[in-house]
Amino acid sequence: MTDHSIAYSASVRRLMDMLGQLPGVGSRSAERMVFHILKASSEDALALADAIRAVKQQVRHCSICYHLTESDPCEICRNPSRDTSVICVVEQPKDLFQIEATGTYKGVYHVLLGHLAPLDGITPENLTIDALVARIDQRDATGNPLIREVIIATNPTMDGDGTALYLQSRMENSGVIITRLARGLPAGAQIEHANKAILADALSGRIKM
Ligand SMILES: [Zn+2]
Repeated sequence: MTDHSIAYSASVRRLMDMLGQLPGVGSRSAERMVFHILKASSEDALALADAIRAVKQQVRHCSICYHLTESDPCEICRNPSRDTSVICVVEQPKDLFQIEATGTYKGVYHVLLGHLAPLDGITPENLTIDALVARIDQRDATGNPLIREVIIATNPTMDGDGTALYLQSRMENSGVIITRLARGLPAGAQIEHANKAILADALSGRIKM
């Protein structure tokens, strides 16, 4: 907090501390936001509070793909024009939005809700990997697999690569084709920051694992 934060009332300090915990917001920005909120009309300020409440109450994870949604299953899983035999596996909803923005992918998704990071205590049980494996094991009435291909679109980082290898080991006996995004993405880059063209290339040039 800033030097003079001691002079603020308890409620102002509380809001400042909470805003200061948001990503990319330092104590200076938090202070500016609080002054803005104090200056704003009650209507505008409370609309912000309501918007936060609505997001937390109405947005949940899709029970099929774990994408964020207000209706379950999500719009993508419900869309009859999507190819449900191809699943693109991403680490987080932000990556899904990026791949959707390329406009080239017509399959469905599976959101892991993170990546494996053993040193930080993030193990397969903390992600949606079991649910993914269960999806891949689904068969139609005649015993044919419903899923044809899994595209692993984890980040080209150490943790993302480790997660991809683990996924491959969990799925290798399933008979499904496993592909990985081509390295149009520079090593160490994050999918959420990649530009659309690079991401579209990486998707179209994906390789079999
Ligand atoms: Zn879904």
